[in-house]
Amino acid sequence: MTSVDAIVIGAGVIGSSVALELARGARSVLCVDKGPAAGAGSTSASSSIIRYSYSTRDAVLTAWESAACWRDWAGHLGVEDPDGMARFIGAGYLNLCTTGYDGTVVMALWDELGIPYEWYDEAQLHERYPGFDIGRFYPPKRIDDPDFAADPDGELTAFYNGDSGYIDDPMLAAHNLAHAARHHGAEFRFRQTVVEIGRRGGHVTGVRLASGEELDAPVVVNVGGPHSAIINDMAGVAGEMRIGHRPLRQEVYAVPAPAGFGLDDGGPIVADLDLGQYFRPQPGGTLLVGGTEPECDVLEWIDNPDDFLDVPTVDHWETSMLRLARRLPEFGVPPRPVGLAALYDASDDWVPIYDGSSLAGYYMACGTSGNQFKNAPLAGQFIRALIDAADDGVDHDRDPVQFAGPLTGRSINLGAFSRRRDPAVTSGTVMG
Ligand SMILES: Cc1cc2nc3c(=O)[nH]c(=O)nc-3n(C[C@H](O)[C@H](O)[C@H](O)COP(=O)(O)OP(=O)(O)OC[C@H]3O[C@@H](n4cnc5c(N)ncnc54)[C@H](O)[C@@H]3O)c2cc1C
Repeated sequence: MTSVDAIVIGAGVIGSSVALELARGARSVLCVDKGPAAGAGSTSASSSIIRYSYSTRDAVLTAWESAACWRDWAGHLGVEDPDGMARFIGAGYLNLCTTGYDGTVVMALWDELGIPYEWYDEAQLHERYPGFDIGRFYPPKRIDDPDFAADPDGELTAFYNGDSGYIDDPMLAAHNLAHAARHHGAEFRFRQTVVEIGRRGGHVTGVRLASGEELDAPVVVNVGGPHSAIINDMAGVAGEMRIGHRPLRQEVYAVPAPAGFGLDDGGPIVADLDLGQYFRPQPGGTLLVGGTEPECDVLEWIDNPDDFLDVPTVDHWETSMLRLARRLPEFGVPPRPVGLAALYDASDDWVPIYDGSSLAGYYMACGTSGNQFKNAPLAGQFIRALIDAADDGVDHDRDPVQFAGPLTGRSINLGAFSRRRDPAVTSGTVMG
């Protein structure tokens, strides 16, 4: 029987990061994934935006610390991947301020943590981005709402951070992490599905694969992305979660960027909760456009993450395109949808769960809520810190582990990501 120190279920960007950090900690690691390659799950569909605009201090600090790893990717990995390296593209991040999302919480946290930004009043926003209609249309509406085309009732302000960006190839980023993990001795097995979590005397003992093979380990980490609730069920820990998490279908489109918003024009990443969308430039003169779960939109919760429509629908597409055309009047709506549909593993409060469990040796990095690609570098280190602390006899549920950010030296309370936390006060959307 195969026996290792730790089994990681899932080789997405976070699972591969967990494998790397555990291997760096001199553990023998086996990462098992039912898909064909590292990052082929929800990671491959990620918009991979790196921003720091979260509602809680620990979330902002985690993103800020992780960004330093993305900016020095080769340094973070410690090894060059011969298949190529993912790149951080510094596009900057513009957050439009509107009713219920006026930026005061985020800017107060950025002030506290020393994250630089500029604030634009209506005139400055218009001057810097003349291609915008800066009208305030809040609340977002469906296109069959008679008020969809109503006149704005004011104008928007915004804040801007120039250190934000995105990763040009999210799947390659996972591949890079897996390559680095292998460099430290980790093994990866693909097209292998975990169907059972072994348990004995309150301790995890390993996993059983669909092939019938049993893999032995005193540590098992669930990084199954949209499948992670199913895996927590297998481990018998679902009942102890105070924070639920489940798959949520999302569509993302690629459309031609109007002048001023493409990558070559210096177009920023834009969070537009006034209309319920985000968009970012990408190479080739296009914009990626995704949603921010406005109240008027029906959320598509998915029961079986192996069975959902993975292409855009005309209904969502039309809504998104007409919203975009309100903000960018020069935008010409393309004749047909180009894009994808994929799954978030959305938690109740849109904050991830990085935690252990009452099953000794069983850990989870899940509930990543469409906003944790950026935090993969630290998520791996968090899981390692939790395992190390448990090995040292720390009861994280009672005495939450504090993680010292390598960049700032500031402390991140890992209790903020506990499965047993009180739900965090957040935007209640993918913005976190
Ligand atoms: C459309 C979209 C846009 C996003 N945009 C952003 C963004 O702009 N910025 C940001 O920070 N985040 C974003 N995210 C979120 C981010 O991409 C995810 O949080 C992250 O990729 C999750 O990585 P993961 O490793 O946890 O999961 P995944 O990449 O889903 O990997 C999970 C893996 O587990 C494997 N698996 C599942 N069950 C089993 C099993 N039983 N046995 C073996 N293997 C199993 C799967 O095959 C899969 O490869 C977005 C997500 C989506 C879907």
